[in-house]
Amino acid sequence: MLPESIVNLITALAKLPGVGPRSAERIALHLVQSESGSVKQLADAILLAREKIQFCTTCGALTEKSPCPICADSRRDASLVCVVERAVDILSIEKSNAFRGKFHVLGGRISPLDGVEPEDLQIVELEKRFSLEPIKEIVIALSTDVEGDATSAYLAKRLARPNLKISRIAYGLPAGSGLEFADELTLSRALEGRREML
Ligand SMILES: [Zn+2]
Repeated sequence: MLPESIVNLITALAKLPGVGPRSAERIALHLVQSESGSVKQLADAILLAREKIQFCTTCGALTEKSPCPICADSRRDASLVCVVERAVDILSIEKSNAFRGKFHVLGGRISPLDGVEPEDLQIVELEKRFSLEPIKEIVIALSTDVEGDATSAYLAKRLARPNLKISRIAYGLPAGSGLEFADELTLSRALEGRREML
């Protein structure tokens, strides 16, 4: 029924996270009836953001400049590194205002069923940071589900070294979910109440 170009647009939009087929259709129909200048502005903003954003070569955060502003900030506590699963988790923790250390993005968690092994994660990159930075504590902030637990245990074992404290943020986070679903207060309490693993 719909012209092919609109169908293609709906298909593309429906691939975006959180956009179901109905929203995709609504957005597509809105766009094709909008003033073409504003549509071009949106398209340009998408392209520009995609071109400018890269991963920080130190921590894996999304940034326009590497090292990212957090890695480059000398006022932050370089002895404390918080390990998260995805780059967006940094935003959740930053919003909680409860953490003044640095970050490291793993890029996933160990999940043999999905074919994700330790070597697929940014663990070697984290190990390299031990010789370059004065790291005294690793705070593991992975989700509290089976894979998050297994990955945390693996990391605690592999990263263990003299004079390094390894802690994990306290439970109380929504069970089985990622950091993005925790509100700021819960996250800051979870960080404060982190427990030593080793
Ligand atoms: Zn960084």
